[in-house]
Amino acid sequence: MSVVPTALRALKDVGMLEIAWSDGATYRLPFKLVRVECPCAQCIHEITGERMVRAEMIPDDIHPVELGYSGNYALKVVWSDAHASGIYTWERLHGICSHLQAVRVA
Ligand SMILES: [Zn+2]
Repeated sequence: MSVVPTALRALKDVGMLEIAWSDGATYRLPFKLVRVECPCAQCIHEITGERMVRAEMIPDDIHPVELGYSGNYALKVVWSDAHASGIYTWERLHGICSHLQAVRVA
């Protein structure tokens, strides 16, 4: 069984998504990092796997306007750039937590 989030919130004042995991670790992920890591078919080429979205294409003030769950396995985000097709599985979100820009807070 992989880890799952126990709490998840958008910290708009610092521009980060805070995720507490079932293994006790808590991470903060910059909104822009999460947006750039969007796994949807518009952001990653379905056949080649090439990432078509780059950080320089995303506004620095990007933020989620809506967070929702997809079943009990993923996070759905509606972004301020109107991008709304990203479904972040727990496994993928947990993977983003190991990114250099992620901050471990607990
Ligand atoms: Zn996307």
